[in-house]
Amino acid sequence: MPNLTDRRQRLLQKLPPLDEVLRGSLVERLVRCGKQTCRCARGELHEAVYLSVTHRGGRTEQISLPRDLVGRVRHGIAIYSKWWEILERISAINRDLLREQRSRRLGGGVEDGAGKNTRRVRRARRRRTQ
Ligand SMILES: [Zn+2]
Repeated sequence: MPNLTDRRQRLLQKLPPLDEVLRGSLVERLVRCGKQTCRCARGELHEAVYLSVTHRGGRTEQISLPRDLVGRVRHGIAIYSKWWEILERISAINRDLLREQRSRRLGGGVEDGAGKNTRRVRRARRRRTQ
Protein backbone atom coordinates (compact mmCIF):
# COMPACT_ATOMS: atom_id res chain seq x y z
CA MET A 1 0.00 0.00 0.00
CA PRO A 2 1.45 3.38 -1.00
CA ASN A 3 2.20 5.74 1.82
CA LEU A 4 0.24 8.90 2.46
CA THR A 5 2.60 11.36 0.80
CA ASP A 6 2.74 9.18 -2.35
CA ARG A 7 -1.05 9.08 -2.47
CA ARG A 8 -1.15 12.84 -2.01
CA GLN A 9 1.33 13.34 -4.83
CA ARG A 10 -0.69 11.12 -7.15
CA LEU A 11 -3.84 13.09 -6.41
CA LEU A 12 -2.08 16.38 -7.13
CA GLN A 13 -1.12 15.05 -10.54
CA LYS A 14 -4.76 14.27 -11.29
CA LEU A 15 -5.87 17.88 -10.92
CA PRO A 16 -7.25 19.04 -14.27
CA PRO A 17 -6.32 22.49 -15.63
CA LEU A 18 -8.51 25.16 -14.10
CA ASP A 19 -8.83 27.51 -17.05
CA GLU A 20 -12.32 26.36 -18.07
CA VAL A 21 -13.69 25.71 -14.60
CA LEU A 22 -17.32 26.61 -13.90
CA ARG A 23 -19.37 26.47 -10.75
CA GLY A 24 -23.05 25.75 -11.13
CA SER A 25 -25.34 23.19 -12.65
CA LEU A 26 -27.12 22.58 -15.90
CA VAL A 27 -30.85 23.12 -15.79
CA GLU A 28 -33.23 22.14 -18.55
CA ARG A 29 -36.52 23.88 -18.92
CA LEU A 30 -39.45 24.11 -21.35
CA VAL A 31 -40.13 27.70 -22.41
CA ARG A 32 -42.19 29.92 -24.69
CA CYS A 33 -40.23 32.28 -26.90
CA GLY A 34 -42.99 34.85 -27.00
CA LYS A 35 -43.73 34.89 -30.74
CA GLN A 36 -47.46 34.60 -31.27
CA THR A 37 -47.02 32.59 -34.47
CA CYS A 38 -44.54 30.08 -33.04
CA ARG A 39 -45.47 26.47 -32.31
CA CYS A 40 -44.75 27.15 -28.64
CA ALA A 41 -47.77 29.45 -28.51
CA ARG A 42 -49.83 26.32 -29.21
CA GLY A 43 -48.19 24.42 -26.39
CA GLU A 44 -45.19 22.83 -28.14
CA LEU A 45 -42.61 24.39 -25.86
CA HIS A 46 -38.92 24.88 -26.63
CA GLU A 47 -36.27 23.08 -24.62
CA ALA A 48 -33.89 25.56 -23.09
CA VAL A 49 -30.70 24.80 -21.18
CA TYR A 50 -29.22 27.11 -18.56
CA LEU A 51 -26.16 27.30 -16.43
CA SER A 52 -27.60 27.98 -13.01
CA VAL A 53 -25.36 29.40 -10.29
CA THR A 54 -26.48 30.07 -6.73
CA HIS A 55 -24.64 32.81 -4.90
CA ARG A 56 -24.18 33.47 -1.23
CA GLY A 57 -27.30 35.06 0.10
CA GLY A 58 -29.48 32.93 -2.13
CA ARG A 59 -29.37 34.91 -5.37
CA THR A 60 -29.40 32.70 -8.44
CA GLU A 61 -27.80 33.62 -11.73
CA GLN A 62 -28.86 31.87 -14.92
CA ILE A 63 -27.26 31.95 -18.32
CA SER A 64 -29.17 30.42 -21.20
CA LEU A 65 -27.02 28.24 -23.40
CA PRO A 66 -27.05 27.64 -27.12
CA ARG A 67 -26.89 23.87 -27.76
CA ASP A 68 -23.30 24.00 -28.97
CA LEU A 69 -22.09 25.50 -25.69
CA VAL A 70 -23.69 22.88 -23.45
CA GLY A 71 -20.79 20.44 -23.79
CA ARG A 72 -18.23 23.06 -22.83
CA VAL A 73 -20.25 24.10 -19.80
CA ARG A 74 -20.66 20.47 -18.73
CA HIS A 75 -16.89 20.09 -19.00
CA GLY A 76 -16.33 23.21 -16.86
CA ILE A 77 -18.67 21.92 -14.17
CA ALA A 78 -16.89 18.55 -14.18
CA ILE A 79 -13.56 20.32 -13.59
CA TYR A 80 -15.07 22.13 -10.64
CA SER A 81 -16.31 18.97 -8.97
CA LYS A 82 -13.04 17.14 -9.70
CA TRP A 83 -11.10 19.88 -7.89
CA TRP A 84 -13.42 19.65 -4.91
CA GLU A 85 -13.18 15.88 -4.81
CA ILE A 86 -9.38 15.98 -4.87
CA LEU A 87 -9.29 18.83 -2.35
CA GLU A 88 -11.35 16.74 0.06
CA ARG A 89 -9.23 13.64 -0.46
CA ILE A 90 -5.96 15.51 0.04
CA SER A 91 -7.39 17.19 3.09
CA ALA A 92 -8.26 13.77 4.54
CA ILE A 93 -4.73 12.54 3.82
CA ASN A 94 -3.30 15.60 5.54
CA ARG A 95 -5.43 14.86 8.60
CA ASP A 96 -3.99 11.33 8.66
CA LEU A 97 -0.47 12.75 8.34
CA LEU A 98 -1.24 15.14 11.15
CA ARG A 99 -2.41 12.25 13.35
CA GLU A 100 0.79 10.33 12.53
CA GLN A 101 3.01 13.29 13.36
CA ARG A 102 1.05 14.03 16.46
CA SER A 103 1.25 10.51 17.84
CA ARG A 104 5.00 10.49 17.11
CA ARG A 105 5.39 13.69 19.16
CA LEU A 106 3.34 12.23 21.96
CA GLY A 107 5.81 9.36 22.26
CA GLY A 108 4.29 6.96 19.77
CA GLY A 109 3.21 3.49 20.76
CA VAL A 110 -0.46 4.31 20.93
CA GLU A 111 -2.14 3.72 17.61
CA ASP A 112 -4.30 6.64 16.76
CA GLY A 113 -7.50 5.16 15.54
CA ALA A 114 -10.50 4.37 17.62
CA GLY A 115 -8.90 6.11 20.56
CA LYS A 116 -8.69 9.55 19.06
CA ASN A 117 -11.91 10.82 20.59
CA THR A 118 -11.21 9.53 24.06
CA ARG A 119 -7.76 11.09 23.99
CA ARG A 120 -9.23 14.45 23.05
CA VAL A 121 -11.64 14.17 25.94
CA ARG A 122 -8.85 13.22 28.32
CA ARG A 123 -6.68 16.14 27.21
CA ALA A 124 -9.56 18.54 27.56
CA ARG A 125 -10.22 17.29 31.05
CA ARG A 126 -6.60 17.67 32.00
CA ARG A 127 -6.57 21.24 30.78
CA ARG A 128 -9.59 22.03 32.89
CA THR A 129 -7.95 20.79 36.10
CA GLN A 130 -4.80 22.88 35.60
ZN1 LIG B 1 -41.47 29.65 -29.75
